[in-house]
Amino acid sequence: MKTNVLGYPRIGAKRELKKVSERYWKGTATKTELVEMGKQLKLSNWKLMQNAGIDLIPSNDFSFYDQVLDATLTYGCIPARYQKIKEKESQLDLYFAMARGLQNNEFDVTAMEMTKWFDTNYHYLVPEFTANQEFELFSLKPVHEFKEALAHNITTKPVVLSPVTYLLLGKEKEGGFNRIDLLDNLLPVFYKLIEGLVDAGATYIQIDEPCLALDITDKDREAIKKLYSTLAYKFPELNVILTSYFDCYGDNLETVLQLPVHALHLDLVRCSLQLDDILNATNFKNDKILSLGIIDGRNIWKTNFEDTIATIKKVEAQIGKDNVWLATSCSLLHSPYDLDLEESEEALPVSVKQWLAFAKQKVDELVTLKKLAAGDASKEVLTKLVDNTRALKAKKESSIIHNAAVKARLSLLTAKDSERNAEFLSRQKIQKDQLKLPAYPTTTIGSFPQTKEVRSWRSKFKKKELSLDAYNQLIKQEIEETIRFQEKIGLDVLVHGECERNDMVEYFGEKLEGFAISNFGWVQSYGSRAVKPPILFGDVSRPVPMTVKWSDYAQSLSSKVVKGMLTGPVTILQWSFVRNDQSRSETCKQIALAIRDEVNDLEEVGLQAIQVDEPAIREGLPLRKEHWSAYLSWAVESFKIATSGVADKTQIHTHMCYCEFNDIIQHIANLDADVITIETSRSKMDLLNVFVDFKYPNEIGPGVYDIHSPRVPEVSEIEELLQKASKLLPVDNIWVNPDCGLKTRDWPETKLALENLVQAAKTMRSKLETAY
Ligand code: GLN
Ligand code: ZN
Repeated sequence: MKTNVLGYPRIGAKRELKKVSERYWKGTATKTELVEMGKQLKLSNWKLMQNAGIDLIPSNDFSFYDQVLDATLTYGCIPARYQKIKEKESQLDLYFAMARGLQNNEFDVTAMEMTKWFDTNYHYLVPEFTANQEFELFSLKPVHEFKEALAHNITTKPVVLSPVTYLLLGKEKEGGFNRIDLLDNLLPVFYKLIEGLVDAGATYIQIDEPCLALDITDKDREAIKKLYSTLAYKFPELNVILTSYFDCYGDNLETVLQLPVHALHLDLVRCSLQLDDILNATNFKNDKILSLGIIDGRNIWKTNFEDTIATIKKVEAQIGKDNVWLATSCSLLHSPYDLDLEESEEALPVSVKQWLAFAKQKVDELVTLKKLAAGDASKEVLTKLVDNTRALKAKKESSIIHNAAVKARLSLLTAKDSERNAEFLSRQKIQKDQLKLPAYPTTTIGSFPQTKEVRSWRSKFKKKELSLDAYNQLIKQEIEETIRFQEKIGLDVLVHGECERNDMVEYFGEKLEGFAISNFGWVQSYGSRAVKPPILFGDVSRPVPMTVKWSDYAQSLSSKVVKGMLTGPVTILQWSFVRNDQSRSETCKQIALAIRDEVNDLEEVGLQAIQVDEPAIREGLPLRKEHWSAYLSWAVESFKIATSGVADKTQIHTHMCYCEFNDIIQHIANLDADVITIETSRSKMDLLNVFVDFKYPNEIGPGVYDIHSPRVPEVSEIEELLQKASKLLPVDNIWVNPDCGLKTRDWPETKLALENLVQAAKTMRSKLETAY
């Protein structure tokens, strides 16, 4: 029996990679410093797993930005606009230019598009393909990393993104072809890579094929058959581990069982039933090892040892001890580093901490389970078993989890609680009269730059180096400056700027009952960005208002409309580590009721517009379509529970980022938000077409400024996007805004970009006037 880790977090236990990358981009760290940090992080992960006793230790799971972008470089699929950079700059700088865009005296190129990695909150850079796309083995990163570990006497299992999944995750940049047909061009490059790995001494290779968790076509399945049969033919000695995760193999199972691979990995956390399906399948010939993904890579709860041992025993009895491996369900990329770093009792009480396991603890669980399965009765191992059983029993019975009042309120909900009073068109009229905004009203998505200074106040306050009064005073000042700034550049609907928030979900997690917060529970979101999901362990309620004081203050400063700013229930759910002892729908509705109280209170103090962000609604979609409608029904209901307590005159906004809306547009419309702002700038308004074809009824702000890149858009660029939008949508319904919050940007670039945005809106208005 081997233990198999599919991937490890790579940002550093204290986000070391973030810090040095950002310095490198600013020009205050050298390339050597950055590369050295990468080496250190890789080595410490490898050593940790080696010392713990893991058998299959991953390599090439490290990345300076994103593993899909790494594959783009490996497969040499560099879009034409980076050609000059490719010729002149180092591979690393080319890589960052593709990730972030590059604007200097010499170059001005946009970044590649980014989108969510399956149903996670991790974002990858979307490969771009042209009709006759050529590939080359451009970067040997997988081979270099394997050798790097070998130099420390650690033989790793390289992790490689399959060419099929790679193609499916990308986008055709022109019409007239199907990207899966590019496989013939890509395969020779892939085999060359595998040859390189084999020559370097790799005997196990993990091929990530997560598209097997999706609904794919017969053609895609044929591509998969071709890939693996050729691979087996060319490299008969190589042990290929076919690895999919996040859902069942479903109707791909039949294909999968025929593939000539050494081991088949199963995500038993997301899909436990598939185990029996496989063991009973008529074409399961018992010729493969099953890698049982029993440790949850996506959540932080301890694994239930007793149940897991029972599962292992059952499989062993059927296919023999030698054919069973124990694994993490997916890469631990989605887990925080190390629970041992959590020393603050205040944030994370021991009563909750005893139920948790982060990446390092999961590695230990894996090894312990292997020992238990092998009948190890040493005191050390048995103590771990007893501790595990005790902790999980305490969890079941804990009084900090169950709140009768919350459960009662939920049971009293009726359909009326999730409907506004009037239809949108009547509301729109009332709101237009009330708010008196110009055509093409300008606004932002909520956050303004979070400077070092602002963050230092928060950290000083947390360390008690700053009193509550002093902290509040600073926040007030910052809000005032933000309001004055927006008034000065001429925005129409203002925001308070969210300077009091560390993160749009964590902030609410800190205020709501039923949540705990870790200190170092960081998980990579994209590139150098990480989030620290709150830990939702119990019934949720709102003991006191959370944002009212700040929004009320902001509104008191200005005669313009100020928009209140909240995070929606689905997003809070989606971006938290959620309890696994009740259904997600129930938990989500509990959050919705808490947010509803906040929305109503904001209205009460006089906010006329309230935004409830739901950027995560799409990523919550189950990977397979058959489960969509159940999810969408409770997700939409939750949003509406949160937002339907207000009068018709109150304008409800919502915001979503990186969303492929195509197949869920009806449900987005069902949210019935008065205004929706979306991300469209990187895709040059492509994403808008869905709203147009659907005839989306409510108001909409297609993002015209890509805030994920430091690049400042020209007035003419913004105007062009607005022209495009105006041809597609009723002018009365169009808003002008960036495509997301400005939190990660600097003030100077924000100022320039927003000035340009306001200018573009003004030009559009004057064109309207001359048209009359
Ligand atoms: N209001 C949030 C902000 O501006 C929205 C961010 C998001 O959608 N990710 O930061
Ligand atoms: Zn956003």
